[in-house]
Amino acid sequence: FPVENIRNFSIIAHVDHGKSTLADRLLELTGTIDKTKNNKQVLDKLQVERERGITVKAQTASLFHNCEGKQYLLNLIDTPGHVDFSYEVSRSLSACQGVLLVVDANEGIQAQTVANFFLAFEAQLSVIPVINKIDLKNADPERVENQIEKVFDIPSDECIKISAKLGTNVESVLQAIIERIPPPKVHRKNPLRALVFDSTFDHYRGVIANVALFDGVVSKGDKIVSAHTQKIYEVNEVGVLNPNEQPTHKLYAGQVGYLIAGMKDVTEAQIGDTLHLHKQPVEPLPGFKSAKPMVFAGIYPVDQSEYNNLKSAIEKLTLNDSSVTVHRDSSLALGAGWRLGFLGLLHMEVFNQRLEQEYNASVILTTPTVPYKAVLSSSKLIKARRAVQKNMMFIDQNRVMLKYLFPLNEIVVDFYDSLKSLSSGYASFDYEDAGYQTAELVKMDILLNGNTVEELVTIVHKDKAHSIGKAMCERLKDCLPRQLFEIAIQASIGSKIIARETVKAYRKNVLAKCYGGDITRKMKLLKRQAEGKKKLRKIGNIEVPKDTFIKVLKTQ
Ligand code: GDP
Ligand code: MG
Repeated sequence: FPVENIRNFSIIAHVDHGKSTLADRLLELTGTIDKTKNNKQVLDKLQVERERGITVKAQTASLFHNCEGKQYLLNLIDTPGHVDFSYEVSRSLSACQGVLLVVDANEGIQAQTVANFFLAFEAQLSVIPVINKIDLKNADPERVENQIEKVFDIPSDECIKISAKLGTNVESVLQAIIERIPPPKVHRKNPLRALVFDSTFDHYRGVIANVALFDGVVSKGDKIVSAHTQKIYEVNEVGVLNPNEQPTHKLYAGQVGYLIAGMKDVTEAQIGDTLHLHKQPVEPLPGFKSAKPMVFAGIYPVDQSEYNNLKSAIEKLTLNDSSVTVHRDSSLALGAGWRLGFLGLLHMEVFNQRLEQEYNASVILTTPTVPYKAVLSSSKLIKARRAVQKNMMFIDQNRVMLKYLFPLNEIVVDFYDSLKSLSSGYASFDYEDAGYQTAELVKMDILLNGNTVEELVTIVHKDKAHSIGKAMCERLKDCLPRQLFEIAIQASIGSKIIARETVKAYRKNVLAKCYGGDITRKMKLLKRQAEGKKKLRKIGNIEVPKDTFIKVLKTQ
């Protein structure tokens, strides 16, 4: 396939602006999939993607398109739009020369439109602005054109106005891809140089590496080397994604496809790695920044006998999502488990849902926390940082872009929800890491009759300690069963008590319901009570059922 007839592009947008729907239409128009009424986000293959209507994992599809007597190969890489998955976006872009920047004609430019545009701009890709959903009653494509010109400095006449849902004007998008995006700059005569831009794990076939070929050719039977690990592999299969895997004899420079070479786990096909032929070393391609987890949570099997099953499920799922970090951890109440790092809260929820749906695992996920760097000195004296405004720009008369510096723990749990409800759904939000800042943080203990409950120790901002402590005591009070004596639930910072709740004494007599002398029934109840006791943990002389922690810790 001549290189000048290849176009590698990606679709980027704010979430829900119509990337996946546009991808469906492009697949149909090029005859890659049949045109039926049922093609809805066909590239969203995961169950979680279908249920939530969001794209989590970038997907690749090769389309063939005839234009003015020439056949073109268009490699489309669909990307997720949510902020937590921007790591997938930047990876996808490294295999592209251009992007379709989709903007909703009703909503206009939103936070991730801006973030994604700059990812493409920094990668020096051609940007084709596509204004979507022009069929909507309140659509105002002219206003969006002006926003695009103002914020991105792209002349408004470059915007293509379409309805991805109805298919209106989608041919112009295909035309623009061919005219405005340059073919990849590659050398087929040079030795193989392939970039691994994604990898997935298949239960039967092992690692499937998604590759973009910058130089050379690769065929089945070739001996290849990972520049990163220096390990040697024999290629078992190469092919293109249509969008399902379709084996081919060879892959040539300029093409995007997949390769299977007996790699046992995804760490062997590191994203950003360069593959070359055995005994023909090449200069490795620039890799990527590795994803940096921002949100950490403990994960435990509901039942410890499920530990090994959960372990294998987590291993397999992290093979498919290398941005999750895993460390072993244990808790007195919850037993052996792990501490996982995620890119954001949605990422964490999606991971949890995939564990349940794809691996049938049932897990306890603890309250997410963000990383802190502790400096043991008098620097706690330094004044706490709250949000600091950094920048403001009017996108048009009724939309403004604000930049703030925030402590991450303030935005990680419910900031986005609050912002959405305060602005009646109009505001959108995106964030990037601005490094560590000093803050006045304190360690808060939760005590039961004076004994610390280790699994509930948290780090909180000094100003918030009181309200968080109070809320945790109240939740604990609701969950903790009454016992033979009174229980004081306290939140403390050092020796200072900042909140308190009391659980009154009570005796649960399991035999109370037994009338008469049915001894077998009594035995049964006593046995059940004894079994129940096994699930208790003693803190001081207080017996706490393990699911109490689960209820207090679990994120809803
Ligand atoms: P993505 O998150 O950017 O991939 O967005 P999707 O493709 O999943 O689309 C989000 C929602 O917008 C879906 O309910 C689509 O049916 C709808 N949608 C997409 N394109 C159009 C369009 O041109 N017109 C209208 N009215 N709705 C659209
Ligand atoms: Mg999508």
